[in-house]
Amino acid sequence: MILKGKKAAVFGVANGRSLGWHIAESLSRAGAAVCLGYQNERLERWVKPLAEKLSEGFCFPCDVNKPEEIEKAFQLLEDRFGELHVLVHSIAFAETKDLSGPFLDTSREGFRTALETSAYSLVSLCRAALPLFERAGEGSVITLTASGARAVIPQYNVMGVAKAALEASVRYLAYELGTKNIRVNAISSGPVSTLSSRAIRGFSEMKRIVAERCPLKRNVEGSEVGAAAVFLASDSSLAVTGEILHVDAGDHILA
Ligand code: NAP
Repeated sequence: MILKGKKAAVFGVANGRSLGWHIAESLSRAGAAVCLGYQNERLERWVKPLAEKLSEGFCFPCDVNKPEEIEKAFQLLEDRFGELHVLVHSIAFAETKDLSGPFLDTSREGFRTALETSAYSLVSLCRAALPLFERAGEGSVITLTASGARAVIPQYNVMGVAKAALEASVRYLAYELGTKNIRVNAISSGPVSTLSSRAIRGFSEMKRIVAERCPLKRNVEGSEVGAAAVFLASDSSLAVTGEILHVDAGDHILA
């Protein structure tokens, strides 16, 4: 129960396969009060039953591209929690057409959509969470990235560029928010089958190749990403910020 007394909000849960859900479950099991944000009403019927499994759990809609919805979500968090210790950003989106074919063909609009939803949203959520972190006297922000930020994964295309922007945002936010005792880190996860990963062409093949070549010779489980999030949310990582923590069975050490 190393997170007993901590209050956490996880943004980006679509269903029981979401990495956001694995993280929420792990945080809750470690003693945190956890609530779930989902993009829109369409997902409510999947996310509400999940929230009900969490002690003190509740859920709320929040499209991170709509400032008024972010404001509403954080008003709810203030009313229900009064303070916040942990913010999880588990959100990414790119148009399907931009996740296949030549990267050169990425449209201006597709590029903007991917970077706004997948990277800028971390900045928006941190800004909105700041007063609640200040009330708690601390904060741990955790986002999800992938190896495509650093090296080319064929067909990952604009999402790789968005993840690179996300990782740079982690560093700039960590630098600025450090003085307020707020830590900002990312988990770079190996491939896990989820709703979003299905949009990436050749994902299953990529997953198979990673399992064959990586040091641990297997894929990672969502629960292992959840366990890493517990570490980053807890007092065990008080001096860790601006970090990209690889939870990928060691795949990142290969050229
Ligand atoms: P997921 O279950 O589909 O979660 C992604 C979530 O982002 C969905 O709930 C999606 O909602 C939400 N989202 C998209 N646009 C949004 C918006 N404008 N406002 C609010 N929410 C929005 O897939 P996942 O694999 O768990 O992805 C979670 C994070 O992990 C992503 O950042 C992803 O890049 C990262 N990641 C995943 C893997 C993997 O292999 N699965 C590996 C490394 C990193 P909708 O369903 O409505 O679009």
